[in-house]
Amino acid sequence: MKDAQAFRILIRNGTVITLEQNSGRVANRVLERHSVLIEGDRIKKISPDVDLAQTQVDQTIDAAGKVVMPGLINAHMHFYSTLVRGLTKAESASDFQGVLDNLWWRLDRKLTLDDCRVSAMIPLVDAIRKGTTTLIDHHASPFAARGSLQAIAGAVKQTGLRASLCYEVSDRDGNQVANDGLNENIEFIKSTQSGADSHLRALFGLHASFTVGEKTLARAVEAARALNTGFHVHTAEAASDQEHALKTFGVRVVERFHEHGVLGPTTICAHCVHVDDRELALLAQTGTAVVHNPQSNMNNAVGTADILKMKNMGVLVGLGTDAMTVNMFEEARSGVWAQKLRQQDPGRGFSEPLEAVLFNNAIIADRYWNMGLGQLREGGAADLILLDYEAPTPLDSSNFLGHFCFGLAQTQVDTTICAGRVLMLRKKLMIDLDEAKLASDSRQLAASLWARF
Ligand SMILES: [Zn+2]
Repeated sequence: MKDAQAFRILIRNGTVITLEQNSGRVANRVLERHSVLIEGDRIKKISPDVDLAQTQVDQTIDAAGKVVMPGLINAHMHFYSTLVRGLTKAESASDFQGVLDNLWWRLDRKLTLDDCRVSAMIPLVDAIRKGTTTLIDHHASPFAARGSLQAIAGAVKQTGLRASLCYEVSDRDGNQVANDGLNENIEFIKSTQSGADSHLRALFGLHASFTVGEKTLARAVEAARALNTGFHVHTAEAASDQEHALKTFGVRVVERFHEHGVLGPTTICAHCVHVDDRELALLAQTGTAVVHNPQSNMNNAVGTADILKMKNMGVLVGLGTDAMTVNMFEEARSGVWAQKLRQQDPGRGFSEPLEAVLFNNAIIADRYWNMGLGQLREGGAADLILLDYEAPTPLDSSNFLGHFCFGLAQTQVDTTICAGRVLMLRKKLMIDLDEAKLASDSRQLAASLWARF
């Protein structure tokens, strides 16, 4: 039965890339001259153009010369890093701890709730332009922790995208701040748990093993368990995290998380650059997702995760940007080059970073949304993008990854739709937002933040 209220959009004449998966197996289809019918926030039908030509709809979008595919997903992001762009005050660092000490921990301590909201708005709007419709964020603002996730959630709602939010608990700023972090997670998780708002989800955030002591970790696990929620935590990003865990706790980072009950199918361990085989086996056994962030790892010179080995050992590996960009096309391409270099073999490392963003991120996101994110299928979420692309060589499901890496990732996103709402049409933003004012507000907040830095 058709819901009389539901808005209907017909996207016609496109080349539809479904990126479907069936029981964990890729079943991607490339469908020429197909239409996608959207009803409300769901995909109602995907059919040859002729079959849907007479359908009554509220809006028609012509996708001739375009590819229609699912909106992309960013599985590890930090909105709060936005206001650092162009900051020249941070001393350069010679190792990862120096990057945190000289830049990020000096910055996040000075953030206000206004900074949190605006620094989320900027990348969210950019995400619409780059065709990223779902972002899994990890937030820190130690002296404005309480209320920060609701401030960011407001920005997510305003842009019409989907995001999973968490607050990164740590002991680095003392007991009160650790308590604030724990309570911020608990309160925000509770606010999303009915699932009624399909734009927002929550995880329990932890900064990293080396900043979370035993007592705080135990409290976080107890709280997350009561809320039936997984974690989002930086894991063995630099070798120093392992050195700290071995020296302080007598175990490696992933073993420590396992002993405390942090791992599991709804937990995301970001990075895992420095993990050994035993740790990979634990991640695989527990169904924990690893999120690879190749550009960030190169930028911080911490190494490159061996995602081929992870895949071989049965670990689910997604792709994130760690705030280097919201452009998943760029991250995926960088991931390919980094992995080939990591493997020291030009014949290995091509497909894995691309599969991470195209297929594994869909599995990860759907652990929280459970509505077919990252795939175009009837009944699934109407999150999709149109890209300018007339394939210059034959295109089918067997060679799609090549077209994605060297063609689609180099073209323009034309239209972005999330939850059945058109957020950008023909490269023009359709949301109610004064972009010039947003940028001007952001510059003002940044200037004030830099003065406090
Ligand atoms: Zn991160």
